[in-house]
Amino acid sequence: MTDTAQPAYRVLARKYRPNTFSELIGQDALVRTLGNALSLGRLAHAFVLTGVRGIGKTSTARLLAKGLNCIGADGTGDATLEPCGMCEPCQSIATGHHVDVLEIDAASHTGVDDAREIIEGVGYRPVSARYKIYIIDEVHMMSKSAFNAMLKTLEEPPDAVKFIFATTEIRKVPVTILSRCQRYDLRRVPAAMLTKHLSMICEREFIAADTDALAAIARAAEGSVRDALSLLDQAAAMAADKLTNNLVADMLGKPGRSESHTILSAAMNGDCGVALAAFEAAYSRGSEPEALVTDLLDLIHLASMQAAGGTDEALIESERAMVAGLAKAGIARLGRAWQLLLKGHAELGQAPNPAAACEMLIIRLAHAAQMPTPAELMQKIPQTPNESPSTAQTTRTPDSNMPAPSAQRAQEQPDSDQFNPAMMELTSLNSIVDLAETKGEMLLAARIRNHVRLVSLQPGNLQIALAGAAPDQLAGDIAGFLNQWTGQRWFVSLSEFGSEKTLAEHQHESDEKLRDAIANEPLVARILDVFPGASIDEIKNPETTITEITVGSNDALLGTNADDEEMLG
Ligand SMILES: [Zn+2]
Repeated sequence: MTDTAQPAYRVLARKYRPNTFSELIGQDALVRTLGNALSLGRLAHAFVLTGVRGIGKTSTARLLAKGLNCIGADGTGDATLEPCGMCEPCQSIATGHHVDVLEIDAASHTGVDDAREIIEGVGYRPVSARYKIYIIDEVHMMSKSAFNAMLKTLEEPPDAVKFIFATTEIRKVPVTILSRCQRYDLRRVPAAMLTKHLSMICEREFIAADTDALAAIARAAEGSVRDALSLLDQAAAMAADKLTNNLVADMLGKPGRSESHTILSAAMNGDCGVALAAFEAAYSRGSEPEALVTDLLDLIHLASMQAAGGTDEALIESERAMVAGLAKAGIARLGRAWQLLLKGHAELGQAPNPAAACEMLIIRLAHAAQMPTPAELMQKIPQTPNESPSTAQTTRTPDSNMPAPSAQRAQEQPDSDQFNPAMMELTSLNSIVDLAETKGEMLLAARIRNHVRLVSLQPGNLQIALAGAAPDQLAGDIAGFLNQWTGQRWFVSLSEFGSEKTLAEHQHESDEKLRDAIANEPLVARILDVFPGASIDEIKNPETTITEITVGSNDALLGTNADDEEMLG
């Protein structure tokens, strides 16, 4: 090493750069497709490799160049998916010195002159290799005129020329170029696979390491093998003897997963003290609050996936138990925690003291964890002595001054009542509406509810006042209806003034009362207290739906169908 400022840095990344396609981890689909193209002799003149930064595009491009130009150890081999690594082309490509393999970084050569240089070179046959290969990295950075110049070459490329483009931003590459390329997408390597890879390297390098520590590195690398190896290098250089979870956590400024798990599971169990102590420990060792909340969100996501029946292939052994434990909280609770954390994460950036904001978030999480889920809540409410939503739902009577409800009774009445109209029953506007509904006169029932103020009601004599935009014929319609269904002559007279509220107005008032009653239920009051900006949206029949409480301005519904809860166990 000549660079003493960064001892050992990138050593592993270089040492374990894949030499064959079989060593390229996590890119099985790409290798398969490329293998097929190669064995069928259907190789394009141009390839484009795309994927996020550090995922191995350049390594893959060099591998491909080797495979295309490899002549085998005995000098008679064909293009192959398994370059020998021994022949002259393989070796000089590996060191970047092959005269026929040119690597160009478009980020620093974007002008048309460079493209012209390439095009002029394209005319010449390869000096020694089978193919003249141009590897153009970050190809999306080329200027428009450079692309145009390149396009002419791509349209009629000489047989012995291949282009390998690499890009992080495939959308910036003109379609005219893309359409002439075989496209290969490099995927992020899953954390579990990356952890195994790191494990294997540690074994070979005699680095003692906890699997948790390697998993933390793999997660931090976000699917990039190169980044993972660089981090492993750094961590190994820091470790006195063994590479531990704490050491990696310190290095990354991120909490270890077990720390995050301690905080989260304690908070979810409502054990605020333990959760805060665990946070304090992680914070004092240098974990950033933002990284911590991100990790908590990640855990909630994994647990929710598990609770929803998703697979846990991405988990390493030690995580599996943590996630399974958290998943027991159930979808509803996990969803609630997710919403809280997501909101808290957004607020963290605006907080003058992120650590304090994080502590507040943990307290809120622990407090919310003690709240019953909406489904549990609805099971409890009817047992309280106050007016319950279930009775309120079926009671149409606006208030206690009005006669008793009769919806159910009306429905239960035998058909014979049709001919023996119960005049005695029709002692309220409600009973008339009920009769109308029973007889299928829904429009009339609705109009009575919305537009009729009762002035007086005696058998055969109804006096009303009209409210709102009542239809002209309403009084006549009511009379006709009553005449038909009671078998008695009815007089319906209109009065100028009616002080009684319409049934709709009564209903509205009663809804408001119910809303207040529910809001004052101790359990609901606590929920509204814990979730600032929450409001009771709608009160529905608890048999099928439960109260929906909207938190803040987003669409985070805490409500969930009781059936779903059961299904999810
Ligand atoms: Zn070779």
